[in-house]
Amino acid sequence: MWYYFMPTKIYFGEKCVEQNKDVLKSLGKKALILTGKRSSKENGSLDDLLRVLSQIGTDYEIFDEVEENPTFSLIRSVLSEYKEASFDFIIGLGGGSPMDSAKAVAVLMKNRELKVEDLYDVSKYTEALPICAIPTTAGTGSEVTQYSVLTDDQGFKRGFSHPVVTFPKLAFLDPRYTLNMSQSLTRSTGLDALCHAVEGFLSRRATPISDLYAKKSIELIAENLPKVLQKPDELEARANMLLASCLAGMVISQTSTTVAHALGYPLTTFKNIRHGDATAAFLDAIVEQAVLEVPEKVGFVKSVLGEVSAFLKRVGLDVKVPINEEELELWIARVKNAPHLQWTRGSFTEDLIKYLYERVRIH
Ligand code: NAP
Ligand code: ZN
Repeated sequence: MWYYFMPTKIYFGEKCVEQNKDVLKSLGKKALILTGKRSSKENGSLDDLLRVLSQIGTDYEIFDEVEENPTFSLIRSVLSEYKEASFDFIIGLGGGSPMDSAKAVAVLMKNRELKVEDLYDVSKYTEALPICAIPTTAGTGSEVTQYSVLTDDQGFKRGFSHPVVTFPKLAFLDPRYTLNMSQSLTRSTGLDALCHAVEGFLSRRATPISDLYAKKSIELIAENLPKVLQKPDELEARANMLLASCLAGMVISQTSTTVAHALGYPLTTFKNIRHGDATAAFLDAIVEQAVLEVPEKVGFVKSVLGEVSAFLKRVGLDVKVPINEEELELWIARVKNAPHLQWTRGSFTEDLIKYLYERVRIH
């Protein structure tokens, strides 16, 4: 038995926001834009959006202080800043951080009595303000997923999702916005997309439709990630990476991520390693563990990428962090209890988890 649901309207291509003003207009008369401090001002995406909003007569406010890896307290501060205001819809403009923040704010503004913690109990809400997502990185696929990953008050990354209302209604994917990503951001976001595609493909929750998207995504990344790292200005390769990221997002919208994500989270929140790099550091183990259960799928991955560890080395991934004993114990305990393990193939024993953290540890 399988099931497919992905309700986001996707518009893809240069100037797609401007060319589809009417769809944006249909979301309402007043928007709250969530974005980061700098990049959306530098890559032209904020200017484009504001121009279009003015043309269609939609009012807006801009909250431009979304930081990487958004926290519970960031979401609380958005809510308190706009306590008195009301909006018809929320726009997340930027990387995964502003898009994920938009999802949290969309639920909490529609359900003002809820706290951030309540986002994790889907029995508490059935509605959210409509969400429009405009990615400027090619990695998270958050524009087409129901997930939002926030950092809790203890510093742990925790994803929440609602099966329906946290999916963006609209996604505008304009590859021009991704052109000026730095090399390290290009790599880490591209590897995040690769992890979504490979983890979803090998997941016990994979479906025939998610597999189609996953295979195409893996092929696009194998060909285009090395290209954009070498020639960052090539729009066609950037567009292929944005498409790959979107397809990989559609994969995890069906399968969710697997234990590589759970393993990577503490490296991001406690050691400042970017999300995609932190996750990819464990991707080869996901592939090796799956070989007994789905050898033909592992064969496909290797036929496209070659050995995963060699591909990662080729694109320059090198994750090494100091980890003390206390951290190691705590992280292992969290991964052992991560829900991702239920649908990750193979057997991630305590010894294997420890070995994988030892591999990225500076001694
Ligand atoms: P991000 O955290 O949104 O942004 C990282 C950095 O990239 C920021 O400094 C941002 O600058 C900059 N940036 C964004 N677009 C840029 C551009 N076009 N050119 C130059 N710099 C740019 O990065 P991300 O990797 O896209 O998102 C990671 C977050 O998404 C993590 O919190 C992760 O857990 C989450 N995630 C969510 C899902 C999901 O399904 N919802 C999936 C995977 C990951 P500014 O701050 O100035 O904008
Ligand atoms: Zn991810």
